[in-house]
Amino acid sequence: MPHHQTVLVTGGAGFVGSHCVAELVERGHSVVVFDNLQQGHRAAVPDEAEFVEGDLASPAALTRLFGAFKFDAILHFASNSLVGESMRDPHLYLHDNVVNALNLVQFATDNKVPRFVLSSTANLFGMPDRMPIDEDTEIDPGSPYGESKFMIERILHWADKVHGMRSACLRYFNAAGAHPDGHLGEDHDPETHLIPLVLDVAAGKRPHIEIFGDDYPTVDGTCVRDYIHVSDLADAHVRVLSALDHRSCRYNLGNGRGYTVRQVIETARAVTGRDIQVRIGARRPGDPPVLIASSERVRADLGWNPRFPDLETIIHHAWDWRRRNPDGYQTHPVRQLMAAV
Ligand code: UDP
Repeated sequence: MPHHQTVLVTGGAGFVGSHCVAELVERGHSVVVFDNLQQGHRAAVPDEAEFVEGDLASPAALTRLFGAFKFDAILHFASNSLVGESMRDPHLYLHDNVVNALNLVQFATDNKVPRFVLSSTANLFGMPDRMPIDEDTEIDPGSPYGESKFMIERILHWADKVHGMRSACLRYFNAAGAHPDGHLGEDHDPETHLIPLVLDVAAGKRPHIEIFGDDYPTVDGTCVRDYIHVSDLADAHVRVLSALDHRSCRYNLGNGRGYTVRQVIETARAVTGRDIQVRIGARRPGDPPVLIASSERVRADLGWNPRFPDLETIIHHAWDWRRRNPDGYQTHPVRQLMAAV
């Protein structure tokens, strides 16, 4: 791998993508962000990176992009990524996510890009009955979202076999936290993730957090998840680029520790010093009771070792960002549209 690389980051204005862009820029790489800003935020892209607004559904946009740059690697984040939405509208996932990735892979192989990293998901494993989940756990996607990522993993498998494009598929567990220096964070609209919602309650923006079911077979009846700091995910992406000189790979990324929804809320109370009101609601369809990663393989192969493994630090960083940016990036797509009118 050349020491200095030109890296295309699709979805680089989104939550995990923007943290990877920051990590790449910090390590001296040239970064081109390609994002349609439907969910991403222009303000999350640093000045050091080149920003191209565009859509993977448009071959014309991709022709311009690949004509203007020669990429050493692609990190692919741009996608629809909500499990619940995918259960209501599978086409958005099984069609849009997959067709967009097919377009990108076609341009990547035509232009002989040697390395490709896919943002994949623990949802690939559905509802496994054995914990922790390692790379040999049976794949049985829990939703059209997970299925779309699995289909893209298979597309990449064949792009390696046929064209020799090496790829890494990184299956995240629950991405959380924010950049330790407080300049990047999580800002989804609508927000559906537990930690930002809990912090909204702490900040007085929502009256209470609804716990989706308290009758699961877990220590306190609420679901257990493996929360992984977004900067640790970013670190894994940058490390894996070097490994791709030799072979394609797939890794599960988590801390190997699970916390219940109640434990997350309790930790958020301790970190923020605020009251957080709770309501008990119904189970959310499709939620597995427990998801915990085994990341032994990525630790052994890449020397990856999460820098911020404890939940308190993860929530602390997310809270820091929240307090500095009470309205998020303030570049909400609808707000941009209103501004343009
Ligand atoms: N959760 C909850 N209330 C909410 C949002 C999430 O109880 O308002 C629970 C959800 O059921 C899951 C955990 O929090 O057990 C993490 O959910 P999230 O949507 O953040 O991530 P997921 O595990 O779905 O990827």
